Amino acid sequence: MKIQPPQYDFPESYFDPAAPIGEWVRYHHDCSNKPDKSLSIIRTPKGWGWKCHRCGIHGFKSARGLSPEEMIKWKNTISNKPYQEEKEVQLPPEFTENIPPEGLAWLYTMGLTDTAIKEYGIGYSPVYDRVILLVYDDEELVAWHAKSLGITKPEIIYMRKKGMPIYFKVQKGHSRVVIVDNIFAAIKIGQFADSYGLMTIKLSDALAKNLANRYDKILVWLGPRKERKVSKFIIRQRALGYPVSAIKSDKNPKILLPEEIGEYL
Ligand SMILES: [Zn+2]
Repeated sequence: MKIQPPQYDFPESYFDPAAPIGEWVRYHHDCSNKPDKSLSIIRTPKGWGWKCHRCGIHGFKSARGLSPEEMIKWKNTISNKPYQEEKEVQLPPEFTENIPPEGLAWLYTMGLTDTAIKEYGIGYSPVYDRVILLVYDDEELVAWHAKSLGITKPEIIYMRKKGMPIYFKVQKGHSRVVIVDNIFAAIKIGQFADSYGLMTIKLSDALAKNLANRYDKILVWLGPRKERKVSKFIIRQRALGYPVSAIKSDKNPKILLPEEIGEYL
């Protein structure tokens, strides 16, 4: 049986080639007696997706077939706003734990095992055609990263909850914690110690104070490019009385294999 392409009869103006990537935009859609008369359409790196919670219509329109003028506009705005914020973070559309081979290959290249991929709920969104890394804070989904598998720009789309600092935390009851700058390093270190991925947040006195309340030892491992910044931070934290020290390595821990990471810890 041939799969039918999604049916829709929305005005062409609903498919804005310059809409922000990864953001739901509301358009008029009168399909029921309920007061809500809107339809949310999201621009993805490949086209537009939509879903109506009232009548259940959903579908996807590819950016292929745009006029030359629109196509140029599409291309020029593809990296618009690589991150966005919401009051509540939802999973990306059609999120699944079924990751295609090229996504798995990328995760393996980053040193992750099948066990870690499962443990951290890493998945895939076919609508975005991206691997999705999830960030939780006490069971609540507070952010996700969507990594492009091909040449689609931007390379990463980042969604986060508004109004709170977001760390990627691995908390397994170890007595020491390692501060790193990204999710992959945090996951791999998680086999040996608790870890905090800074994501986009800077090192701060408040973070050191918070961690010193819960851990005997705080290690900072941000890779060779940030060594000077880390040294300054550590001098300051020691003066404040916090048990902070640095791990130095020639490479950022995110590209080290788990067993190599173990040697530093
Ligand atoms: Zn509807």
